[in-house]
Amino acid sequence: MSDALIQAAQAARARAYAPYSNFHVGAALETDDGTVFPGCNVENASYGACFCAERTALVSAVVAGHQRFRRIAIASDAAEPVAPCGLCRQMLAEFGTELEIVSIGARGGQVTWRLDALLPHAFTRKDLRGNA
Ligand SMILES: [Zn+2]
Repeated sequence: MSDALIQAAQAARARAYAPYSNFHVGAALETDDGTVFPGCNVENASYGACFCAERTALVSAVVAGHQRFRRIAIASDAAEPVAPCGLCRQMLAEFGTELEIVSIGARGGQVTWRLDALLPHAFTRKDLRGNA
């Protein structure tokens, strides 16, 4: 994991809009051509409308025309590294379950997973075949 990707996630964390949880998260998603898309959590008074950092990064990348990803870095306020929530795991799995995920805790600890280890038996487009 490059330091630049981690730094991009940490910079994005500083832009998080989290007045309700006060839990700031930044993400940086690297595409197959090396482009990096930052994301941060964006909360809302209607809690169900909140977005996680990982998903804002993913949506930004897709809007810009990217659908192949190598890695995502996540930086949060938590002392220890945190894993993406289930909803983010599912959304990331849409574009490949071999994505490398690195999470950085506020104390500097770092953990790396592959998405298919965090979301085994992911529901994907192949599950829809034959059901149309
Ligand atoms: Zn999430």
